[in-house]
Amino acid sequence: MKIKALSLLSGGLDSTLATKLVYDLGIDLEAIYFYTIFCTCNRGGNGCGFHARKITQELNIPLKIVNTSEEYLTIVESPRYGYGSNLNPCIDCRIFIFKKAKEYMKECGARFIITGEVLGERPMSQNLRSLRLIEKEAGLEGLVLRPLSAKLLEPTIPEREGWVDRERLLAIQGRSRKPQIELAQEWGINDYPCPSGGCLLTDPIFSQRVKDLLVHKELDLENVKLLRFGRYFRLSPKLKLVIGRNGEDNQKLLNSALSTDLILQVIETPGPVALARGEETDNFIEEICHKVVNYADKVEGGVKVLLKRKEPYREEIKIIFR
Ligand code: SF4
Repeated sequence: MKIKALSLLSGGLDSTLATKLVYDLGIDLEAIYFYTIFCTCNRGGNGCGFHARKITQELNIPLKIVNTSEEYLTIVESPRYGYGSNLNPCIDCRIFIFKKAKEYMKECGARFIITGEVLGERPMSQNLRSLRLIEKEAGLEGLVLRPLSAKLLEPTIPEREGWVDRERLLAIQGRSRKPQIELAQEWGINDYPCPSGGCLLTDPIFSQRVKDLLVHKELDLENVKLLRFGRYFRLSPKLKLVIGRNGEDNQKLLNSALSTDLILQVIETPGPVALARGEETDNFIEEICHKVVNYADKVEGGVKVLLKRKEPYREEIKIIFR
């Protein structure tokens, strides 16, 4: 019977190459794709796993897709091993994912895990110390094969047991993606996401917005959804405003609205949609309307803004002069 491995497949270049490499060694493979609300994959919507699906279909191996968004928020709130240069809790994130993978490994009968990690590629989570720590914390010591850097690391159980031929593994290290890009060309892999990416938590502007939710104890999935687009304003400890920058943002804001959100829409002249969430007392209405109108075309006689909310019901038109 063939030995089975579970591939942690994000669909990025590194994990795609690692999966293909181990597949070509004749290992029975299954892949698992974890996504959170912070994933950048947007080919088919949040968490679509477009590239992970594509590669598993091409190799004809099963793919398990797991949404970990809700649980993941607790890690972002207080990571034991801290944040990277922005709000990215990379070490805790990897420990969390590895623990989840370990559970599924038992379920699917896999004997070890493979990842696309490359020694020294990411400063926080892919140095030797972190790789060891993550494995240990997840209870997977010796069971994580990193085919792209394996020859630079201690032999894992699959190598020691002869399940995998160490000689056919690679010795890539460092931040340059050149070797991976060359390998992809050689193997005919042309469609992969930008090879430099991390999740949205590595983005400084997005991280500032998440920090704002943390400070105001408002970190939940509905609020995080609002951070992904538009212009974000904190108006009071209990009130935030997001203004669309274009038609796509405007539609997303309308789709993200809760029944208690106040929606503002510039009417009869080009202008944005905005969403106010929280306690928008009448004191704030004028301020909110003026902010929205700043992004609308100027018109004589003032800009009309339609304000709508389902609960408690509110519907009115205000004329705002700039
Ligand atoms: S970049 Fe984001 S997804 Fe990747 S390890 Fe860090 S926190 Fe996790």
